[in-house]
Amino acid sequence: MTEPRPAPTSRPLGQPFDLTGKRVWVAGHRGLVGGAVVRRLAREDCAVLCVGREDLDLTRQQAVEAWMEANRPDAVVMAAALVGGIKANDRRSAEFIHQNLAVQTNIIHAAWQAGVGKVLFLGSSCIYPRDVAQPMREDALLSGPLEPTNQWYAIAKIAGIRMAQAYRRQYGCDYISAMPTNLYGPGDNFDLDGGHVLPALLRKIHEAKVEGRGEVVLWGSGAPLREFLYVDDLADALVFLLKAYSADDHINVGSGEEITIKALAETIAGVVGYEGRFVFDTTMPDGTPRKLMDSGRLAALGWRPATDLRSGIAATYRWFLDNAERLRQ
Ligand code: GDP
Repeated sequence: MTEPRPAPTSRPLGQPFDLTGKRVWVAGHRGLVGGAVVRRLAREDCAVLCVGREDLDLTRQQAVEAWMEANRPDAVVMAAALVGGIKANDRRSAEFIHQNLAVQTNIIHAAWQAGVGKVLFLGSSCIYPRDVAQPMREDALLSGPLEPTNQWYAIAKIAGIRMAQAYRRQYGCDYISAMPTNLYGPGDNFDLDGGHVLPALLRKIHEAKVEGRGEVVLWGSGAPLREFLYVDDLADALVFLLKAYSADDHINVGSGEEITIKALAETIAGVVGYEGRFVFDTTMPDGTPRKLMDSGRLAALGWRPATDLRSGIAATYRWFLDNAERLRQ
């Protein structure tokens, strides 16, 4: 057992964190969120550390501890996670709970052992109970039963929030948590089975247009409401929080823009230039009926998103077209 010891770089809690000259490890730099955080940190006066999965398996505790000890980051952004859409979450329950618990536990504990001064843990809006009052406030956490389709992922993320809080409380570590709403943008997962709705529909609608098909199948009823945030806006919020936020409570990061799945499909069709119709496969689940975050606490700190949904979808579609060849492989 490792003896508890104070982090060598520990600072009083509740203070700003200056990124100047710091070494920041972006865990999960090849993912949607990690990639955007790396792009955003390029504008800060800090060094960005990245390590690929071929060189470090984040599910192996000893490997993570050895890497952290050897590389000694000053801060860690925890963008490494197994994520997926409604179908992947439902079908791969064991992988979702095991990999997320393992990765986050290894990183947080190894960060403490190596004296990392700041850790930013990330979750998602699915941590909140299924039938919670909307918009969802931070204090709604653990106030009711979870949505069954993604509870495995949600339970792991709730454990991560509590772990960051526990390390703050017992060891005085400046570890914080941010909960983004549904994200999309360049670098997303466009896999039809595994991905989330926005990239899946972008691809389905694009392919229907190219192949001259008159209809596109949407899963579920099309009625669920979702909020979407452009990933480069999220990255901006995360850098803001890394510098300015030091508190026990996790903090929501949303756009405040809510739309039904049907209206989302129509917006995407407008961007892609598709004129066919939509049909609904109601044998597929709807998931949570509504998922809108209350991001009032973040707004009160002075942060706001810059990208509206249509512009964000247009930028994502450009990225998809530029990378379509590679995505097919
Ligand atoms: P969720 O936000 O955790 O429910 O995950 P998703 O982003 O995968 O799904 C959001 C909503 O979009 C659900 O109601 C899905 O049934 C619906 N949906 C409609 N068509 C699709 C599709 O082609 N792929 C996905 N992933 N969801 C779809």
